[in-house]
Parts: sequence; C-alpha cells; structure tokens
Amino acid sequence: MSVTDSTPSAGFTPPTRFAVPGRIAVSNRAAATWQRATLTEVRRETPHAATFRFAVPDWEGHLPGQHLMLRLRAGDGYVAQRHYSIASPPDDTGHIELTLDHVDGGEVSGWFHTVAKPGDEVEVRGPLSGFFAWPGDRPALLVGAGSGVVPLMSMVRHHRARGLSVPLRLLVSARGPEELIYASEYGAETAPVFTRTAPEGVPVGRVSAAHVAALLADRPEGGWEAYVCGSNGFAEHASRLLVDAGQPVDRIRIERFG
Ligand SMILES: Cc1cc2nc3c(=O)[nH]c(=O)nc-3n(C[C@H](O)[C@H](O)[C@H](O)COP(=O)(O)OP(=O)(O)OC[C@H]3O[C@@H](n4cnc5c(N)ncnc54)[C@H](O)[C@@H]3O)c2cc1C
Repeated sequence: MSVTDSTPSAGFTPPTRFAVPGRIAVSNRAAATWQRATLTEVRRETPHAATFRFAVPDWEGHLPGQHLMLRLRAGDGYVAQRHYSIASPPDDTGHIELTLDHVDGGEVSGWFHTVAKPGDEVEVRGPLSGFFAWPGDRPALLVGAGSGVVPLMSMVRHHRARGLSVPLRLLVSARGPEELIYASEYGAETAPVFTRTAPEGVPVGRVSAAHVAALLADRPEGGWEAYVCGSNGFAEHASRLLVDAGQPVDRIRIERFG
C-alpha cells in the first residue's frame, strides 16, 4: 500500500516557512490576482474524469495539496467560479494540471467535459489554502476517494520527482477499476479499495479499520500527518477510522469536495 521511491533523497531542504507544522503561509497577492490560463491538452483518465493541462506563464508555484479558484466568463458577462485542486507537482514550471469529474448537470465541469478544447482560455487565481499543503518534509498518510485523489497525486508526484525519502503512503478508493483516476501511476504496492465492482478475487467494500490499521502499522520518527480528501461522507468515515486507529485528531487534515 505504500508509495515509496527507491531513488535516494535528493536532499530537498524545504524553505523555513514550509517547516511550520500547521497552516502554511500563502501569498495574498497570488491568491487575489486573476491570471489567464490557456488550455493546452486534455487527457481522459476515466469515463467520468479528465485531466486538463494549462499554460499559466506567471504562475508563482504551489505546494502539493493546494487548490485554486477557476473562473469562466460567458460572452454575455455571466461568470461562474469553482475551486479545483492542483494535480501537477510544483516543479512543472509555467503549467498546472487539474483533474475534473464530470458532475451530472454541472455547469463548470460540464463545460470542461463537453465544450473545452486546446487553445481556450480561462482565469485562475491561487494557490489557495495552506492547510492541506504537504511540503514534503514530514511522513504523510494520504487517504482519498474518487476525485479526492487529485491533491494527493500532486503529493505523490512531488515525492517521486524530488526523490524524497520521507515516508509517504496512499490509500485510494473508487467505485470500480474503470473509475480509478490515475490508475497507471500507482505502484504494485498500492491496493485500491473498490466500493461497487472489483476484479475477480478482489473484495468489494468501503475503506475499513483493517485498511487503516495496515497504513498505521509502523510509526516513523515524528509520527504521521494524515491527509484525507473526498466527499463529506468519505471524509467523515475515513477520519473516524484514523482516530479509532490512534491517529491524533490534530494531525488529520481534511479537504471536502462535496
Ligand atoms: C477545495 C476544493 C477542491 C476541489 N477540487 C476538485 C477537483 O480536483 N476535481 C473535481 O472534479 N472537483 C473538485 N472540487 C469540486 C468543484 O469545486 C465543483 O464543485 C464541481 O466541479 C462541480 O461544479 P459544477 O459547476 O460542474 O457543478 P454545479 O453546477 O455547481 O452543480 C451541479 C449539481 O451537482 C451537485 N454537485 C456540485 N458539486 C458536486 C460534487 N463535487 N460532487 C457531486 N455533486 C456535486 C450540485 O449540488 C448540483 O446539484 C473541489 C471543491 C473544493 C471545495
């Protein structure tokens, strides 16, 4: 279940402001400034989710786990804005990637999935929220369901890209194998939990106490920081299991999409 990288640590020393255990400072200027983002590529992940890659030349960078505000503007002046987690790692200079579920009847996700094409422009501002950020400086347990895996994948990609040696573990849940976002990026050691359909021989069910116990089986120096992301229901369920398994409540960070 663990996502580990055999590459030795590249010796990444996080800047001092990243070493704070609680909320990480965000730039007020970046958070308040709308920037133009040009769609450059669309990649299908599952029948209901796709990744949208944007060129954002003045993007100041982000930490894995952070999100942004995205704004669409119609010709008649109508504006819609939504939060989206950043899927790409921080080192992807001048580019960001978002992965969107196609929500039934959804205004913004519907536009992306049915209308958007490379060359289209939208506006973004961010990064936002220092609370769900993982600077790569502490052991992290990542627990996500559905599109809740998006900010967690930014963390996994950062871990791999930098060759970090700090322990990182990932538990993902999806309705079925065809709904598993980023399926090709999980190592053999990641055992996804399927809630509705599963390959033969694989049990169907929710994330359970046994899954969480396996995640917490050993305690690295300094303990684990848990990051939970998904719908309201999933976030409640997973965080309760973590607390029951002994994870301190003040070391569980939750991001809810629902
Ligand atoms: C911090 C944060 C990060 C987020 N990151 C992501 C991300 O990485 N990927 C992603 O796909 N979404 C993400 N979301 C959800 C996203 O902001 C939108 O809510 C979602 O895309 C739906 O917007 P829409 O305009 O398509 O639907 P709307 O037009 O707003 O809603 C249409 C219908 O769908 C329902 N609905 C709205 N949102 C959801 C939802 N998330 N799940 C199920 N039903 C819903 C509404 O109640 C309504 O009935 C994130 C939300 C937050 C708060």
